[in-house]
Amino acid sequence: MASDKSAQNLNLLYSELLVLLKQEEELRKETQRKLEKAKAVIDPRKEFNRWLQTKTGKSWKNKQFEFQEGKCAACNEPLRFADAVVHHVLPLKDFGSSANRPENFKLLHPGCNLAIGTKIVDFS
Ligand SMILES: [Zn+2]
Repeated sequence: MASDKSAQNLNLLYSELLVLLKQEEELRKETQRKLEKAKAVIDPRKEFNRWLQTKTGKSWKNKQFEFQEGKCAACNEPLRFADAVVHHVLPLKDFGSSANRPENFKLLHPGCNLAIGTKIVDFS
């Protein structure tokens, strides 16, 4: 009878284990979903694009354009405000959200921005 009892206990243990494993699997999936969502929210590129559309972002661009005297920071040739693209000196790719600081931005021709890409250039 003692062995019956321990077999029962073992079965009980296994079914509890199965329940726990299923719960763990669910939690893992749930965590994965939340992580994906969080990543999308803090995507530095999206974060930057949102910022640029804000009042602060727009006013930064105006001031920076004046500061650069309407010239491209890369080639020093005249730049039209409408064409000016914001270049990240320290690239988003490597620096993530911490690259999203106005001190890290320069206004460039789209072509100059493309040519530089993610290379780190000294604009001073
Ligand atoms: Zn240029």
